[in-house]
Amino acid sequence: MKRKRLLWRLYPSYLIIIIISLVAITWYASDSFRRSSLKQTADDLETRGILKLQSFSDLLQSADRSEIQLSCIELSRISQTRFTVIAMNGQVLGDSEHDPQTMDNHCDRPEVMAALSEGRGEAIRHSYTLRQNMMYVAIPVSDNGAVLGVLRISLPITSIEQALKTVYTRIALGGLAIAILSAAISFFVSRRISRPLEQMRRTAKQFAAGELTKKLPVSNITEIGSLAISMNQMAEQLYERMEAIVRQRNELEAVLSSMVEGVFAVDTEAHVINMNRAAASLFGIKPAKIKERTLHEIVRHPALLEFVDKVLATSESDEAEITMFDREERYLQVHGTVLHDAQGNTIGALFVLNDITRIRRLEAIRRDFVANVSHELKTPVTSVKGFVETLLDGAMDDPVSAKRFLEIISRHADRLQAIIEDLLSLSRLEQDEGMSTVTLESKSLCEVLETATQACDLKATEKHIAVELVCGEDIKAKINSALMEQAVINLIDNAIKYSDEKGRVEVSAEIADGGTVITVTDYGCGISNEHLPRLFERFYRVDKARSRQLGGTGLGLAIVKHIAQIHGGYPAVESTPGKGSRFSIHLPA
Ligand code: ADP
Repeated sequence: MKRKRLLWRLYPSYLIIIIISLVAITWYASDSFRRSSLKQTADDLETRGILKLQSFSDLLQSADRSEIQLSCIELSRISQTRFTVIAMNGQVLGDSEHDPQTMDNHCDRPEVMAALSEGRGEAIRHSYTLRQNMMYVAIPVSDNGAVLGVLRISLPITSIEQALKTVYTRIALGGLAIAILSAAISFFVSRRISRPLEQMRRTAKQFAAGELTKKLPVSNITEIGSLAISMNQMAEQLYERMEAIVRQRNELEAVLSSMVEGVFAVDTEAHVINMNRAAASLFGIKPAKIKERTLHEIVRHPALLEFVDKVLATSESDEAEITMFDREERYLQVHGTVLHDAQGNTIGALFVLNDITRIRRLEAIRRDFVANVSHELKTPVTSVKGFVETLLDGAMDDPVSAKRFLEIISRHADRLQAIIEDLLSLSRLEQDEGMSTVTLESKSLCEVLETATQACDLKATEKHIAVELVCGEDIKAKINSALMEQAVINLIDNAIKYSDEKGRVEVSAEIADGGTVITVTDYGCGISNEHLPRLFERFYRVDKARSRQLGGTGLGLAIVKHIAQIHGGYPAVESTPGKGSRFSIHLPA
């Protein structure tokens, strides 16, 4: 629709009204003026005629044509009026302006006919004789009731027309002045109306742009003023609602981003509406890349996508456990809830992801541990049981066999004891670790290493292994001596166990990496790389048979790890198969 300024809407209507009123008034006024002027002129003409009726009656009776003509001319000279005398037969007997001889018969003139029939005739018409518009008034000339002829008095009406023309001109000029004035007034009025409207338009535009704190000026024109008040109230309410929405959104964002669980919402087409940081990092994507994209574009886990599609397709909340294969296996518990709008239509779904990898791993470790313990205990118990039965079956009577069997039973019992002792010390360590009951004191590490080396002396001598202690300066660290001794003994014990006869083991302590490092190096069989990450797990052994044969329980390194952790440190290993291993305990400063 074409838009017009308010002025151009108001002004033409004002103008039309003014023109119509002016025309109506002009027409009415000029018509009245014309009528009254003509009536007055007619009356005037009639009076002039009546005054001369008697003299013309006498003249007509005398029937002296020249006298009649002279009288007409004389009267015309005095009164500036045309006098015509017409006989009953229509013949012109005298005329002040013209020679009656040359004038045609006047019996058909309307004013003459009216004068004879009604006693007075009046007409306005163009005179061919005088070639101008004339007013004629005719009255009968009679004597004692007998009509002798008609006296016609006439006057050009040019003066009346002239006067009317002046009136028209004045009215037209007045109309023009009024039109200009009305234009000015309507411009002023429309400006007065449009200015507040214009201001409102500008402020409303700012409202639309979101600047809801702006206020519309309240005009003193009632309608516009109350419109401004209503719009201000509307903007205020809108602002409050927007504030509430933004507040709620921020709260929601804060809740979502602080959640450990991954949360994301999708619409019915699987476009991502929202995704929190936890979910984004679970999928390994940047939050900036999420907007306006479908889940299928940004997530590459078929099981999860399948689950999302299923929830969206069935519009039913569901729960599932899915496994994601990234760099490592990850277990997720996914809960999908369908989202509805106010009308109850499905608008998408919300998914909560719980990373249960740690729980699953712990469960697996616990399962493995129980299986391992049972397995470890089963072998010596079965052996003990077997040899006891053999003894009872009669071997007891053969002293040589009995002694041999009893020795075997004793070895297995020792093994059982070793396993149980290691398990107990592990569980104690775990308890201490959990409750932080271990007391740490600043002690000389060299002393601890020396005691540990001495404890392993016997085993070393048996295998002709030289254990060298390198501990030049007096290094101090915050340790629990008994526990640290046990850890170092375990490492030296392993180094001796897995070294060949006449080998060499180095035990040292040094300050490095801002802390202290205890190292036990051997030049034995070494360990291949694939075993290194799991070496500190309980019951993990590179070579089970060899370990058992050497009296190992598979728990030594697990104990070392726990002791290192109790001290706030960690264990480490470097090894080359066939060349030797280097175990270390790193302690913080
Ligand atoms: P074990 O009682 O069997 O020695 P540990 O927990 O002490 O159990 O050690 C776990 C495994 O690590 C051992 O079975 C052995 O295979 C390997 N291992 C430990 N120390 C050494 C070492 N110094 N050289 C070679 N292998 C070793």
